[in-house]
Amino acid sequence: MITESEDISEIRRAVQALCAEFPGAYWREKDSERAYPAEFVDALTKAGFLAALIPEAYGGSGLKLNAAAVIMEEIQAAGCNGASAHAQMYIMNTLLKYGSEEQKQEYLPRIATGELRLQAFGVSEPTSGTDTLSLRTVAVRDGDEYIINGQKIWTSRAEYSDLMMLLARTTPREEVASKTEGLSIFLVDMRKVVGNGMTIKPIRTMMNHSTTEVFFDDMRIPASALVGEEGKGFRYILSGMNAERILIAAECIGDAKWFIKKASDYASERNVFGRAIGQNQGVQFPIARCYAQMCAAELMVHHAAQVFDAGGNPGAEANMAKLLASEASWAAADMCVQTHGGFGFAEEYDVERKFREARLYTVAPISTNLILSYLAEHVLGLPRSY
Ligand SMILES: Cc1cc2nc3c(=O)[nH]c(=O)nc-3n(C[C@H](O)[C@H](O)[C@H](O)COP(=O)(O)OP(=O)(O)OC[C@H]3O[C@@H](n4cnc5c(N)ncnc54)[C@H](O)[C@@H]3O)c2cc1C
Repeated sequence: MITESEDISEIRRAVQALCAEFPGAYWREKDSERAYPAEFVDALTKAGFLAALIPEAYGGSGLKLNAAAVIMEEIQAAGCNGASAHAQMYIMNTLLKYGSEEQKQEYLPRIATGELRLQAFGVSEPTSGTDTLSLRTVAVRDGDEYIINGQKIWTSRAEYSDLMMLLARTTPREEVASKTEGLSIFLVDMRKVVGNGMTIKPIRTMMNHSTTEVFFDDMRIPASALVGEEGKGFRYILSGMNAERILIAAECIGDAKWFIKKASDYASERNVFGRAIGQNQGVQFPIARCYAQMCAAELMVHHAAQVFDAGGNPGAEANMAKLLASEASWAAADMCVQTHGGFGFAEEYDVERKFREARLYTVAPISTNLILSYLAEHVLGLPRSY
C-alpha cells in the first residue's frame, strides 16, 4: 500500500533473511526458559541493524527513523521478538540529540560494533506509575560524582545491558518553578555499579521480556554521566518518547501482519465440514477487518515517522500511531486465536506466544488511556483531567 524506496525494500529483505535463521522453535525454547535471545540480538548487531540510527561518523549507518521502524516491523512480522533489542533504537535518540561529543565518542562506536549494549531505560517507578514527574529516585551532586538513591521498576533488559539511560530527580519538586524541571538524564555505565550500589532483580512476566526491578543504594556515578543540562531531563526524554512510540507502533504493525498471514494460511488449509474454514464468511470477515485496521494504522505510523524525520514534533502523530497500531495488533492477535480454534492454544503454532507478547503494547510504553487523555487535552483542547 505504501510506496517505498528501493533502499527501504532492501532493508526489509535483509531483515527477513536474518530472521529466517531464527524460526518459531528458537523462540519457543527461549520463551519456555524465559531466556534472553542473545544469539538473535548478536546477529542483529553484527548485521548492523541495531546501529541503524547511529551516524556514520560513529560507526553506524546513519539511517532515519523510518528505516529503523521498518527493521522493527520486519522482525515482528517474521514471528521474532524485537522486545529483546528495541530499546537500543529508541534510547539512542536522547544520546544523539543531547549527549556531549565526549559521550558520543566514548560510547557510540562501541555500541555500533556490539562491544556495548545500550538496552536499559530506567524511567518507571513502583509508586509513581504513569505520573513520571512524581518519580522519587534522586541524584545528588557530590564533587565530581552524583550519588543515586531510589528504585525503578520494569527496567527491561537491565541484566543484558552495559548501559542504562536513567531518569532521576536532581532538584526537589517543591523547589522548581515548573514540575517538568529538576529531572535529569544520566547515561550509567552499569558494568561499574552492578553489585556496587545497583541491584537488579528479575520480574517474571506472562511473556519472555527480561524485565526487572533496579535498586539504587548510594550508587556513585561520575558527573560526566549527566546527559545535557542538569534539570532538563524530562524535556529530553519526551523527544525520545516520540521515537519510542513510533518504533513500538511499527512493531505492532509487524505483529498484526504476522497474525493476519498466519490466520489466512490456516483458514485456507484447515478443512471442517468438508471445506476450508476460510470459505465461511464468518471466518473470512474478521481476517479482512483486521487487515483494514492494520493498513489504516500503518499509514499513521508511516506519517508519524515522516514528521519525525523531517525534524517536526510528532507528539500527536506518534501517540496516534501507537494507539492505532497497538489496537490493530491486539485485534489481529485475538482474531488469530479464534481462527485457529483449539490449535490457537497449542505452543507449537506460536500463536499463543505471539498473543501473549502482543498484549503488552496497549499498556506499555504508554497505556491507551494516557494517549487518549493526551489527545483530548493537547489536540482537542478539552479540560485537563489529571
Ligand atoms: C513488560 C513491561 C516492560 C516495561 N519496560 C519498561 C522499561 O524498559 N522502562 C521503563 O521505564 N518502563 C517500562 N515499563 C513500564 C510501562 O511503561 C508502564 O507499565 C506503563 O507506562 C503503565 O504504567 P503503570 O504500569 O505504572 O500503570 P499505572 O500508571 O499504575 O496505571 C494503571 C492503569 O490505570 C490507568 N490510568 C492511570 N492514570 C490514569 C488517568 N489519569 N486517566 C485514565 N487512566 C489512568 C492506566 O491507563 C493503566 O491502564 C514496562 C512495563 C511492562 C509491563
